[in-house]
Amino acid sequence: MSILATVLAACLCAEPAPAAPDTTILHCGTLLDVPGRPPRRNVSLVIRHGVIDQVTDGFVRPRENSGDTAIIDLSDRFVMPGFIDCHVHLTGEYRENRALINVVETDADAAVHATVFARRTLEAGFTTVRDVGADGDAIFAVRDAIREGLLPGPRILAAGEAISATGGHGDGTNGYRDDLFDLPGVEHGIADGMDACRQAVRYQVKRGADVIKTTATGGVLSNTAAGVEVQLFEDELTAIVETAHMLNRKVAAHAHGATGIKAALRAGVDSIEHGTFLDDECIALFRQTGAYLVPTIHAGKFVEHKAEIDGFFPPPVREKARLVGPQIQDALRRAHDGGVLIAFGTDCGVGAHGTNAQEFTYMHEAGISEMDCLVAATVSAADLCGLSAEVGTIEPGKRADIIALGSSPLDDIGATRDVRFVMSRGVVHKSE
Ligand SMILES: [Zn+2]
Repeated sequence: MSILATVLAACLCAEPAPAAPDTTILHCGTLLDVPGRPPRRNVSLVIRHGVIDQVTDGFVRPRENSGDTAIIDLSDRFVMPGFIDCHVHLTGEYRENRALINVVETDADAAVHATVFARRTLEAGFTTVRDVGADGDAIFAVRDAIREGLLPGPRILAAGEAISATGGHGDGTNGYRDDLFDLPGVEHGIADGMDACRQAVRYQVKRGADVIKTTATGGVLSNTAAGVEVQLFEDELTAIVETAHMLNRKVAAHAHGATGIKAALRAGVDSIEHGTFLDDECIALFRQTGAYLVPTIHAGKFVEHKAEIDGFFPPPVREKARLVGPQIQDALRRAHDGGVLIAFGTDCGVGAHGTNAQEFTYMHEAGISEMDCLVAATVSAADLCGLSAEVGTIEPGKRADIIALGSSPLDDIGATRDVRFVMSRGVVHKSE
């Protein structure tokens, strides 16, 4: 084996575990180990080397001479699996003067900001996120540093740059003078035609993407009066999905308008993000394909609110914000009534990082039961992320991603914002 091959093989080893006591025992007053089933009373969790080893009735004590063991008392807490947010953008947070920020901030700025936002997200109880769209390399660096235990933050599945058409929602040069930028190419995710779409997916995977994001329709915050309907041809969407699936990556498709939702679902995407104008035909296609809807009401509320402020958005953005914002919560209601699979996602980075759990309240207002809200952010989100073997429930063999709330979210969904304890891969990041 060459030196390079040896180094590569060493780099591809399993996820390294950060420092933690050999064994930690959690005494849980109430434990929702598997969301969707009733919670249990007075249960001990035994964590060894970052992995859940035992789930045992009663409050157990360590055997004598059993080495480095910590006991944590959560006997007056509601303990459950860490939340999963399937739609965030950790490298930034939307601010009023974004047109300027876009041309002065560097990858280094984005990386530093992402470390702060990652910590806020983790402390809000989110132990896994999908980052579905970021410029440059910052998100990959932050993902890897968290995985190595160098930074506190959630496990990140990163998409890198979204795959979009020229002038489409993911084209970062929209709204700028022509001479400021060269026409962006596949290295920035901009692709027209099947070959370019295949190359753009391959390029993101080469850069380190865990998941592929595409913008099937126009979006609210791109500075172009291009509406929110379909922006990629079906052969382009199919090329994106086939290439991603061949490379074992799932595809998340941003889509507001019904034509784009249908085109993306027919192409075989794994999730529709937003889904604002979904109709009965969309619902039938969701059920036929088994794709998830990731609702992101949090972002809809943000843009609806900011559109009321004169000058906050450029005119084309303000118009789209007024169109999309008020509809997005009702889309979830219709999708849920129609039997569509729902995975939790907020689009935080549009709204403030760390406020992700507000989405639970918006979902509940749309008619989703407390338990179904929790399932969407655990079992279902883990399924969409392809991480069901590792996270989403508290069972032996899974990663110790565990949170504790001050009271039961099954009585009041607002309790999801009262996070008192966060453990990620066996390491305690918050305890009060
Ligand atoms: Zn987004």
